[in-house]
Formats: sequence, C-alpha cells, structure tokens
Amino acid sequence: MRLMIEPQRTARVPLRPLALLALPALLAFAVAAACAPDRPAADTIVTNAKVYTVDAARPWAEAVAVKDGRLLAVGTARDVARYKAATTQIIDAGGRLVLPGLEDSHVHFVSGSLNMAAVDLAGAKTLEEVRSRIRDFATANPQAAWIQGRGWMYPVFPGNMPDKGILDEIVADRPAYMRCADGHSSWVNTKALELAGIDRRTPDPGNGRIVRDAKGEPTGALLEDASGLVSRLIPEPTFDDKLAAVRRGLAEAARRGVVRVHGLGGEFEDLAVFERLRQEGALTVRMTAAMWVEAPGPTDKDWRAYDEARARCHDEWLAVDGIKLMLDGVIDSGTGAMLDPYEGQKENKGKLFWTAEDYKKAVAAFNAKGLQVSTHSIGDAAIRLSLDAYEEGQRAAGAADVRNKIEHAEDIAASDIPRFGALGVIASFQPLHANPEPAWIGSWIENAGPEREQRAFAWKAVLAAGGRLAFGSDWPVVTIDPWPGLQVAVTRQDLDGRPEGGWLPQHRVSLAEAVHAYTLGGAYAMHREKDEGSLEAGKLADLILVSQDIFDVDPHKIAETKVLLTMVGGRIVHDAR
Ligand SMILES: [Zn+2]
Repeated sequence: MRLMIEPQRTARVPLRPLALLALPALLAFAVAAACAPDRPAADTIVTNAKVYTVDAARPWAEAVAVKDGRLLAVGTARDVARYKAATTQIIDAGGRLVLPGLEDSHVHFVSGSLNMAAVDLAGAKTLEEVRSRIRDFATANPQAAWIQGRGWMYPVFPGNMPDKGILDEIVADRPAYMRCADGHSSWVNTKALELAGIDRRTPDPGNGRIVRDAKGEPTGALLEDASGLVSRLIPEPTFDDKLAAVRRGLAEAARRGVVRVHGLGGEFEDLAVFERLRQEGALTVRMTAAMWVEAPGPTDKDWRAYDEARARCHDEWLAVDGIKLMLDGVIDSGTGAMLDPYEGQKENKGKLFWTAEDYKKAVAAFNAKGLQVSTHSIGDAAIRLSLDAYEEGQRAAGAADVRNKIEHAEDIAASDIPRFGALGVIASFQPLHANPEPAWIGSWIENAGPEREQRAFAWKAVLAAGGRLAFGSDWPVVTIDPWPGLQVAVTRQDLDGRPEGGWLPQHRVSLAEAVHAYTLGGAYAMHREKDEGSLEAGKLADLILVSQDIFDVDPHKIAETKVLLTMVGGRIVHDAR
C-alpha cells in the first residue's frame, strides 16, 4: 500500500536522526495532520469539469478521483483535491462535460469490426451514392475475390427492393454480396446467384424468400434465410482476420466513448478472440456476450457450451451472460410478425421463427437456470409472445432477478405497453433505427400503415408506464457512434432536422432519460449497475470527457459531439485532447 501523505506536508516533517527511530509514528502523525488517516492518494484526478454523474441523488459534480481502476471520490473540486498526492495525474477538463462511459446494449461486435473493411453503404441516401461507393471499393480492391458490403436500405431502390441488374453494371467479374442495413436481406449480382446455383427452380428456404420477377426469375434480392444460400459460399474470416478487425473495432468504440457493450450475436461464437485480447490487456471495451440459440430450443451441446464458456469468462471485462433468441424478422421487408396483416398485403402477417410452444419452453428453461433472455421481437405479435413467455419465465426463475429483454420492440400493441413495467421486462431500443430519414424509415411506415405507425418506437410510452429503457446501436446495422442516436432520441428528427416538429414527437425522451438509457439503463440491463453506469464513489472508473455540453447546446448539434478522452477502469484508452 502506498503512503497516503500530501507531499507538501511531508516536506515539513523534520527528519532528525532521533526522529527516524520513530518514523512510523511520525508519519502517522503527518497523515493525521494532512487529511483523514483513511484518505488514500488518487492515481488520477479529473477536475475543473462539469460532471453529469447519472446518480439521481447527486447529478452534478466538479471532479472525480480515481484509484486502482475505481472511483475514489466524486464531488466538488475542493473535496476531491484532498486525494491529490505527488504521484497523482491531474486531468484538467477545462470546464468541459464529463459523463459516465456509454454502454451499448445491442451490438454484433465481430461483424461490426469486420464490416469496417467492406463497402460501407450506411447512410447512402440515393442509388447513385450506393453505386459510387461500391464502384470505388471494387476499384480499390482488385484482389478481393468477393465484393462485400453492408448498410443499404430498401427505399433507395425503385420499388423498395434491390435488383441484380444494378449490381451487375458495377461488378460483373466477381460475385458481389451486399447486406441490408437491417441484416435481414441481401442484394447479390448474377455472378453470385450462378455460384450459389440459384435459378427459377430453386425453392425458398423455410425462413426465407428468393424474390422473383413476374417470370419467376430471381431478382437478386434475398430475404431472411435465403441470404444464406449465397453467404455460405463466402470464405470465412480466419481467427487472425477477426482479431485484427476487433482491434480496430475496439479503437472505434473508444473513440466514440463506448465502454461496455452487450454482444448479442457473434461474440459468443468468437469468444476466443476476446479472451486473447483480455489476456493481452488489450480489451478496452467491457463485453457481455450472450449465447445465440436457434429454434426449437437448447440442445445438450448448447448447455455444455454455455457452462464451459461461462466458467472461463465471468469478470468485469468479459462475461458470458444470458441467451439471445430471435423471434421474427423486420417490418421494413414485411417479415416482422404482426397481429394483423401488413398494409396492402392481405396475406402477409410476417412469421414467427419459433412455435409459441417451443419458444415459451426455451425461455422458461433458461430463466429457471437464472439466465437472462434477450429476444429479437419487432412486430406486435412477436412482442406479445415474448411478454407472455417472460411472464411464465419469471415464475420459473423464482427469486432470480433475470431481467429479460425485448430487443427492438419496434411496434408494441397499445395494450402491451404497460406490461413492460409490470413484468420488469427491459425494452432494448436503438434510437437510430427510428431515424425518420425517408430513405431509412420509408418502407417501415408504408408496411405498418397509419394506425400502427402511431405507436412506432414508443420509447416515452414504455418509460411513462414504468418500463425500463436500454439504448444501443445494433452495430453494424447502424454506426456504433452513440451521439447521432442520442440526438434522434431527443428530437425524433433525422440528422438534418426533418420533419419539422419531429416524427411522432410524443415518443421523444428527454436528454437526461436518453443519457440514462445509454449508461445506467444499459448497466442495469446487463446486471452491472452496482459497478457501472453512473459516476459514484466505489464504481468502476469508466468515464468520458466530451467536446461540448450536450445539456446546453441546440439538440440538433448533439451528433457533432466529439469524445476527447475515454477512460476505462482508470486507464485512458482514447485521448484526443
Ligand atoms: Zn442485432
């Protein structure tokens, strides 16, 4: 243990030969004179800051002291200065805003990281933009056997669906595979269809559809599991490919101020990548990884895999925790499971990926073991089934505090909104998914129709009915950068401020509520609220220093926020001061 003496005081203690014999006693006296004897010296003090703590009891402070990776004190600059020693590193925040590190409650970290080295179509608003991004990538990567990309959205295409002809004009010599931003559909060229042997005679797979033209010819659009007919041909990235990619992903997360993520697909399967990084001390984002389980439910192999992984990974950096299930598709392509048919599609209510019976049985089995279940449920029918299953699951869990989550929850039936609060089910929303940019949300609105549109992404209603929110990105569906998400959460407008007054502004949340959902709300959703999510003495020293006071700027400028410093466990992992 280090001596806890303020340096200027020690200097005044006369060290005469006689006194040396009594040094321990003298030091004890010096400590008592300088500060309380139990006051340790901080490793780091961040001071001259506007600290928004997310601690309801004391929301604002001026400084924090850090020792051994945890917060020693949070308070006024004067109070915190008492923990200063000669060795203390002082960070002058220059009066800027400090927040708890942000938590992303829904990511696919490996695919997000790998995606950083593919065509990025996210945010492309016109077909011309889509074309030029693919063309540039293909030209810049002549050695790539496949041209892969991700991030397109339906409305940029004529008829809201992509077509192989457009892609053939840009890439004819190599197979091309472009995933939709929502991850539920893909767009391929003729070369890829040929390689996969997909033609007019190919039947649709169980949970998928090969989109065909009037003559029955595949158009190059593949929905849900039909994408697998092509994607399975793409060479798998190696362990080293993934390791290199995840290193880039970690740097990107740190640059955006993200300190903890809930990995809901891919992380469990690639746990070895994260274990290697943890071993190296290179893991700069804390990771909760859920195991993905397919219908009809867990096998013995699943249980074994879970127990083995959990035994290896259960600390504050890397923890296997909980299960991810997927109950339906998405509204944008008419595959989300709805109680009533899609607008203008009398025959189509989407489809559940599980039978109700199997799904309920699986949820109860996981909950009985005390495991949290996070289910992708987007349509109102899928959400209702999840709530029903969670109600029974909580009974199976007994006293265990499982905190089941519904991922996305995009269109909740009005009568189901109060059930989130009543059952303690967490609504895990991704604010950027409600970006009212027409190229993003147009087909969602068309397919839902006017009545169901009114309850789209009902963040505020869930909160008002006593429910809990956890916000995230679903990276790589959208950027892992949380700042545009925060802006959309409070404005319900696209990043250019449209539409005027906001899309369904009754579902907006306040900035404090949005920050909570990106911090303490996420920590709670990952069973980490005792250690994370707010800046309070004793919690982990995970914090960020940002370029502007988001509580004091025009809400339309929140997305411009730059993270100047990210600290995780007392260590600076990003520094752009
Ligand atoms: Zn996801």
